[in-house]
Amino acid sequence: MNGHFSAVGADATAQEYEHGIQVIDEEKEFNANVNAYLQETSVAQAGFNYHLISVFGSQSTGKSTLLNHLFGTEFNVMSEAERRQTTKGIWMSKNKNATAGSVDLAENILVMDVEGTDGRERGEDQDFERKSALFALATSEVLIVNIWEHQVGLYQGANMGLLKTVFEVNLQLFLKDKESTPRSLLFFVIRDHIGNTPLANLRNTLIQDLTKIWQSISKPPGLENSKIEDYFDFAFAALPHKILQPDKFVTEVQNLGTRFVAGHRSTKDQEFVGGVFLPEYHRRIPADGFSVYAEGIWDKIVHNKDLDLPTQQELLAQFRCDEISREVLLAFDTVIAPLEENQADATRSGKPFVLPVLGATGSEARTKCLAAFGTQASRYHKGVYTTKRAELESKIDTRLKVLYQGQLSAAHKAGVTAFSDAVSGAVKAGQKSGGAYDFAEIVEKQKRKTLDIFKQEAQSLLIEGVAWTNFKPQYLLFEKELDEVSARLRKEEMRRLATRVERWVRSRLGDAVGLEFNKLGSGRAGAGAPELGEKPASEKDLWDRIWNVFVAIVKEAQERFTERAKSFEASEDEVEIGLWRLRRKSWIALREKIEEEVMEGNILLKLRENFEDKFRYDEAGVPRIWRPSDDIEGIYTRARESTLGLIPLLSRFRLAETIAPPDLPAWVGPQPHGVELEDEEDLPPIGGVDEEEGKSLEEEMTVLSESKRQDLVIRFKKTADGVYVEAKRSALGGITQ
Ligand code: GDP
Ligand code: MG
Repeated sequence: MNGHFSAVGADATAQEYEHGIQVIDEEKEFNANVNAYLQETSVAQAGFNYHLISVFGSQSTGKSTLLNHLFGTEFNVMSEAERRQTTKGIWMSKNKNATAGSVDLAENILVMDVEGTDGRERGEDQDFERKSALFALATSEVLIVNIWEHQVGLYQGANMGLLKTVFEVNLQLFLKDKESTPRSLLFFVIRDHIGNTPLANLRNTLIQDLTKIWQSISKPPGLENSKIEDYFDFAFAALPHKILQPDKFVTEVQNLGTRFVAGHRSTKDQEFVGGVFLPEYHRRIPADGFSVYAEGIWDKIVHNKDLDLPTQQELLAQFRCDEISREVLLAFDTVIAPLEENQADATRSGKPFVLPVLGATGSEARTKCLAAFGTQASRYHKGVYTTKRAELESKIDTRLKVLYQGQLSAAHKAGVTAFSDAVSGAVKAGQKSGGAYDFAEIVEKQKRKTLDIFKQEAQSLLIEGVAWTNFKPQYLLFEKELDEVSARLRKEEMRRLATRVERWVRSRLGDAVGLEFNKLGSGRAGAGAPELGEKPASEKDLWDRIWNVFVAIVKEAQERFTERAKSFEASEDEVEIGLWRLRRKSWIALREKIEEEVMEGNILLKLRENFEDKFRYDEAGVPRIWRPSDDIEGIYTRARESTLGLIPLLSRFRLAETIAPPDLPAWVGPQPHGVELEDEEDLPPIGGVDEEEGKSLEEEMTVLSESKRQDLVIRFKKTADGVYVEAKRSALGGITQ
């Protein structure tokens, strides 16, 4: 096909690549579309399952014609009429023939048609020949050397010059890489074979010439004794004249084609078995990296820089591994980025959110990403691949780590809230149903439940063999916080218990103290009638009885408190503090109750009742009917003085025996460790107990102030006077009647 192509319509790419692709143009520029071509022809995905063949030889020796026949390619061929060079630079095409006769060709054969050189078009410029030979050797498994039969044995011919170049650049190229020096196959195709000289003879002649050439080239130190067979294998084929024997030509080309299949070396005699594609010829450049590799190689060649294939392969590996890494990270990102956003939103809103099935999602995305990277990138240089894989893993893990730690912090916060809510809820429910609940049991049960949920979340994040996904420390931290919350809740529970016990004390005191004060209303309470001027026993030891009943009530309350607090595992210290508080609050409650009793109206009423009882009833308790002859004034005075005598008694809290206040400081006891009175807002200072408050025990025990006392005396006297006048009047009235 000679026609020029035009890229029009949807089929543009297919059309564009009809003749393959010009890898290197006449300006020695590398084509940027090589990878696009490999993608288009589906070679790029083939990994190592592709082959590269280059063809060399003088111009117009039918190279392009041969390739087109062998592989169905459509390289331009010189028209019979013009005889001008057609192939410029280096072209590449994928084979279009899938078979040669009944034989299936190897898959993905890439053929490079190299511009022929014999100086006719490019003058004596050997530069391109050298460069293209280098390029072909660095990439190709098989080098086809195309040669006329009549050129065989012409040791000085153009072909021999080319071969010399090939050998020289081969040494240059693979010198640095002695260990892994790849072998190449030189496949001589002898054209226009007339048939007089058998192929075997031609082959011998060629081998002799090649050996001579090899000996003639200067070899680098250390390689002086190297043999041509150390680097090359040889294969030979002869083809009849295409124009004179067209049918035979076609058949022979087909025979030749059957050799382009996979082969191996027989272990017995090292002879080829199968086709020409031996694994050891393959340059091991993954197909998806070929264009980058080839471009790098060509760049070095063009700029006459040292071409060092191992370095090139490492550079390629770095480039491709980075590229593949970016690709697989995109897929990872589509899964992980939305989760990261959700988490960030939740954190910003202050409502930590536990992402559902994060562990499974994260680990799957991680595995997929690394597996995808492995599939593609592991074909490249092992060392580079290992490093890049570690880099990728660290990138992935950095993202997952943030996500996972956020997840556990959310689980932590949610767990603490759930725990404290559940405990409070259960306590409330317990209180509602009569107060019979076991606080310690509630805490234990909820703690186990909450820990379990956290543990499950933490375990779901575990990735086998990945150390950082072990979240034991976070678990322990969570457990510790639950214990702290438990302690706080227990403290609250203690407060609730204290409030309940205090309320009980208050109520008991209300009854008991009220009763004692009520007794005052009866002037003849206690054993026997009081002698004049002597207070009845019940009045004299009023405070003893109040103190005793108070101490008894508080004792019982303390026992209740202790028992209950122990049931939910409060510490000794906590119990001690609770009891101390209880005693103080009980005393305050008692003071308040007493104050209520001695409030003006209340106490005046009690005194009046006390007085009336003494005045209106005789010693036997019989109401007096006043007669004018009665000593109303005397009885009145005695009764009044007796009742008035109560007022000093009432004014101070004194025990009868010692005539001193009870030892309140000893009873309250010392302030326990770790308690600051200033911090306890519900504990007002107590005189004599809290010395520094400036109020003495004497003051604390003062029930009625001096002025109140005087006031009370005056009021009471008035009341008593009223009763007296009434009695006097009734006595007189009785006479007139
Ligand atoms: P290239 O420059 O080596 O690629 O040669 P071409 O394939 O372009 O062919 C150059 C000329 O040789 C064309 O005119 C072909 O028709 C002719 N040609 C192709 N194959 C043969 C052959 O086997 N024998 C002869 N004598 N001519 C051939
Ligand atoms: Mg050509």
